[in-house]
Amino acid sequence: MSQSSYRCTCGKTIQYKQDMVTERGGVRATWLCGDCRTPVPSVTAEKIRHQHPS
Ligand SMILES: [Zn+2]
Repeated sequence: MSQSSYRCTCGKTIQYKQDMVTERGGVRATWLCGDCRTPVPSVTAEKIRHQHPS
């Protein structure tokens, strides 16, 4: 099973749900970088939010 990860513009590698924060607005929550709060692309965030460190 492959893991998704996203390299934020601030340099942080987002690999797990806890690396992101959510911002509620409208129907869907927006996923943001936990460090700089730059939005993570929704398709990528949807994969990452199911990943947890084992
Ligand atoms: Zn960031």
